[in-house]
Amino acid sequence: MTGTPRLLPVTDDVDTGGFFEAAARGELALRRCNGCDAVLHVPRAYCRACGSWEGRWEPVTPTGTVYSWSVVEHAVHPAFPAPYTVLLVELDDLPGTRLVGHLPGRPELRAGAPVIAWFEDVDGTVVPQWRLARS
Ligand SMILES: [Zn+2]
Repeated sequence: MTGTPRLLPVTDDVDTGGFFEAAARGELALRRCNGCDAVLHVPRAYCRACGSWEGRWEPVTPTGTVYSWSVVEHAVHPAFPAPYTVLLVELDDLPGTRLVGHLPGRPELRAGAPVIAWFEDVDGTVVPQWRLARS
């Protein structure tokens, strides 16, 4: 540990707060349009498919596969000691919907490797994380 506090997300943002409310319940949730059911990810206030401003947060199965990744070898902030891996996860339930994640170190990865979300409590803020699942 570096002693540097973790950087935590703003959890009461009007556009993303529902994501963290769901995480606090141990659920991975995405925003969906009430007008046409489109997935609104990255979360946004309105639907680009039908123009509706009405949406909801809906739990999704917290599993996916590694779509891509990049190993960060040089620390850019003391709260993120290098090396670490930035992960792009494609959700099993929603092909084409991808979430960014983090794995410590330089794990051995392959495209398509199964991953599962888990929920880390950092000083009362719950942050979804990913770990490799057994294939
Ligand atoms: Zn819509």
